[in-house]
Amino acid sequence: MDQKGLLVVISGPSGAGKGTICKALLQENDFWLSVSATTRQPRNGEVDGVNYYFLTKEDFEEKISKNDFLEYAEVYGNYYGTPKSKALEAINNGNDVILEIDIQGALKVKETYPEGVFIFILPPSMEELKQRIINRGSETPESLMTRFKSAYKEINYVSKYNYAVVNDTVEEAVKKIQGIMVAERCRVDRVKEKILDSKEGIIHEQLYD
Ligand code: 5GP
Repeated sequence: MDQKGLLVVISGPSGAGKGTICKALLQENDFWLSVSATTRQPRNGEVDGVNYYFLTKEDFEEKISKNDFLEYAEVYGNYYGTPKSKALEAINNGNDVILEIDIQGALKVKETYPEGVFIFILPPSMEELKQRIINRGSETPESLMTRFKSAYKEINYVSKYNYAVVNDTVEEAVKKIQGIMVAERCRVDRVKEKILDSKEGIIHEQLYD
């Protein structure tokens, strides 16, 4: 039996650096990054189908009613969701799939897909987190305050995750995530069927061939 790929959920507060870490992870590894759907407006330079699938509220709600999302959540007044069929197909084909999603979404995935690997990205400090949100330059003063306040609350959710990775530098954070994935692929509950199957194969060969 071939091993399924891992479903790796990377989340954490806005400004912790999830996006940058995921980009760096993809440059170095052969992972499959799920492209989310959203009803928010594209930012400068964002491309439909690459950064997100940009949908109208009506189209998004139709997909919700068809159960097309692995999870979806309302974040800062817009819908965001993970298209289900492509992600599950990639996992079943043995690809490691990365979801970069918010905390509500991650907790929903944990209910329906508990064998996923749940990684919480933390900023080095709250001051640094604030600076990162400001430096992004894409927020109005109100949305900046909303994101910063919710980041404060969201840090409490770290206890629901399997791993906490502090984003001191992107290189270090990427190395830690790569290490987590190596360990996860070796977990007995993921590989035992494969090992036992191949053991049976060897015994069969020796007894009967
Ligand atoms: P942004 O608008 O800055 O691109 O994303 C806002 C938040 O939505 C981020 O925390 C991001 O991780 C989260 N997000 C992006 N895609 C998804 C998704 O498919 N599902 C959920 N639940 N959150 C998402």
